[in-house]
Amino acid sequence: MERGEGIQVVKLGEREGAARYELDEGALRRVLLREDVRGLPVVVVSVAGAYRGGKSFILNFFLRYLNASRKSQLDGTWLGEEDEPLKGFHWRGGCERETTGIHLWSEPIITTTENGKKVAVLLMDTQGTFDSETTIGQNSTIFAFSTLISSVQIYNLYGNIKEDDLQHLQLFAEYGSLASETQGKTFQTLLFLIRDWTYPFEHPYGFTGGSALLCKKLQLNRNVNPELRHVREHLTSCFEDIKCFLMPHPGLTVEHPNFDGRISGLTENFRSALLNLVPSLFDPKHLTPKKINGVLVSTQDLFEYFQKYVNIFNS
Ligand code: GDP
Ligand code: MG
Repeated sequence: MERGEGIQVVKLGEREGAARYELDEGALRRVLLREDVRGLPVVVVSVAGAYRGGKSFILNFFLRYLNASRKSQLDGTWLGEEDEPLKGFHWRGGCERETTGIHLWSEPIITTTENGKKVAVLLMDTQGTFDSETTIGQNSTIFAFSTLISSVQIYNLYGNIKEDDLQHLQLFAEYGSLASETQGKTFQTLLFLIRDWTYPFEHPYGFTGGSALLCKKLQLNRNVNPELRHVREHLTSCFEDIKCFLMPHPGLTVEHPNFDGRISGLTENFRSALLNLVPSLFDPKHLTPKKINGVLVSTQDLFEYFQKYVNIFNS
């Protein structure tokens, strides 16, 4: 099974009443400055969103794919045995909350892109709070942070893309743009991952329905009010690519307290959505290496960017 664990590298603390980001440099060093990944370009995939939205759950399927043989990646058997418990990032936390912040999978996965270049894939679990108005600012910073650090930011949403979600995102993006000194677009890929999509007859599951929904939500032409128009224009101006994937409900089994994540408990629709989504992120031809100002970012560079962004957000 997968080695490793989710380790917290950025924590939201407090000093003199103000929010402060704490970087665990020791933990970060253990992930990024290992001998076997030294100098490699990174692919950083982050999943961000509210508590109990199935973020860690889906990250564990990413891990499964990444740790599977090429043969099983191609024939779909990477999904695993019917009765295999889902391991990896801690998931289904019950009511107790994880600390707000950023967790990285402790083991970077070394793989090759389509043109034969070695890269280190890093998985990032970003947890905001979302429990009251006052935390919006803190959420924004943690999301801005993970969006700046990642090459693909997966915005995990329940049910649909709501105006609120777009407005939050706009705020994250503004914080992020302030912190970076990039020319051109500040961020790379944004993927809206809509969980428990219930209108497959209107927009089908997957990327097809997702792009139709996205068009509708981000369309600029019709009579949207100026404020929302601004949100949309801003988002399209700061991401290189914006995509959307509609995910079906995994089935009622997931609500059972003893459910261990085995795929026999998941609906056929959910399984086929996983078989569609996961390779679209991690197949060699779809891997998105992290770039800043058009330059590939290595593990060592990423370590320094973590330090730099923590300092900026704290100042
Ligand atoms: P996180 O807090 O966002 O990391 O959420 P978790 O991954 O810990 O999952 C929280 C709960 O949601 C678990 O009980 C999962 O079984 C369940 N879950 C996972 N994926 C989905 C989904 O797509 N839809 C629904 N309704 N529940 C899910
Ligand atoms: Mg989680």
